[in-house]
Amino acid sequence: MSTAAKELNGWDVEKIRNDFPVLRQTVNGKPLVYLDSAASAQVPQVVIDRGSRYLQDEHSNIHRGVHYLSQKATTAFEGAREKVKRFINARESRECIFVRGCTEGINLVTHGYGRKFVGAGDEIIISAMEHHANIVPWQMLAEEKGAKIRVLPMDERGELQLDQLEVLITSRTKLICVMHVSNSLGTINPIKEICHIAHKQGVPVLVDGAQGAAHLSIDVQDLDCDFYIISGHKMYAPTGSGVVYGKAEWLEEMNPFMGGGDMIKTVTFEKSTYAALPNKFEAGTPAISSQIGLGAAIDYLNSIDREKAERYEAELLAYATAKLSAIEGVRLIGTAREKASVISFTVEGVHPHDIGTIFDNEGIAIRAGHHCAQPVMQFFKIPATARASFAFYNTKEEVDKLADAVQKVIEVFA
Ligand code: PLP
Repeated sequence: MSTAAKELNGWDVEKIRNDFPVLRQTVNGKPLVYLDSAASAQVPQVVIDRGSRYLQDEHSNIHRGVHYLSQKATTAFEGAREKVKRFINARESRECIFVRGCTEGINLVTHGYGRKFVGAGDEIIISAMEHHANIVPWQMLAEEKGAKIRVLPMDERGELQLDQLEVLITSRTKLICVMHVSNSLGTINPIKEICHIAHKQGVPVLVDGAQGAAHLSIDVQDLDCDFYIISGHKMYAPTGSGVVYGKAEWLEEMNPFMGGGDMIKTVTFEKSTYAALPNKFEAGTPAISSQIGLGAAIDYLNSIDREKAERYEAELLAYATAKLSAIEGVRLIGTAREKASVISFTVEGVHPHDIGTIFDNEGIAIRAGHHCAQPVMQFFKIPATARASFAFYNTKEEVDKLADAVQKVIEVFA
């Protein structure tokens, strides 16, 4: 790799790549080109080591034990919560509830907030570009309660029509649910502005941060969102880790999500009372090693220059956008002015699954399908897209390989 490529925009990508052992392998005899970080980002060695150390030296159940190992595990687990708190700038660590991922986190709010505060005739606003994880739980709730779902529309670029938001909010609106960054289009939504509009009418906002936390610096106090939901595996941590950030005043008022051990204060056969935050929402044994891994991933992210990483990812995206849009027959899906490192596309006359298969032969991992966003596909009148998603460990050379592989697809199907 040339020095120019290695140090694009002052970002030493070769050094960064050394942190991720999985990137060293070959697939089908070719060096792995991993362009599927929006599905799951790869895990750096320090996170792998931290998980192994826990399993080797500290493994024990948390909170309940007085013995040495249990205390060690509890300290590491609660330490991870402190790291999350600082990472997203929550006011208090009890506002950070550990869950197994974004889907579980949104369901926690659906049950905890929705069951309590949403009634017949009430309305929930979701955006037109949501992932199924931020649609289906609300539909299930609406069905149960006789509530209605309202959809904030988007335009052909994949940008939300914010001027419609004020029109959609009524006295029956109980919550606005919107993603920070679209996994299928790459759009970065103006969360601060959405919260501002919603709060003027007294409506809380839930942000699906599955893609946001991986690419952007998150300050929940500055955004002023009421809930921000994170999946650890999208931000270089193991699967099974995740966070629901909620303003304490909401979390205090909400019903617990699941019942069981650890979330109670007292239990009799007649009645149970619930533990204080955050335990009220953490029934049963959590994914201890994964959450400790999330803490290690945050340490890792804090150890790199995130501003540079963001700029580098933006440069990769711009480079890929220019390369792919120059190829005849390629249609980019999602051309918002504010985008994070996702590029969705179709190739005329070729099903995205065939693109994915040909890419795999070249050692290139992309995702093909509806990306759990079928309404987005319906909007653009396509069954699916091919999606390349970048992280700060990808290179310009890999983007070149992506473009070459698209050319190959076109030749095969010509
Ligand atoms: N929301 C968005 C925007 C996503 O991209 C995803 C996963 O792809 C999810 C929610 C669901 O996350 P998880 O599968 O980790 O629960």
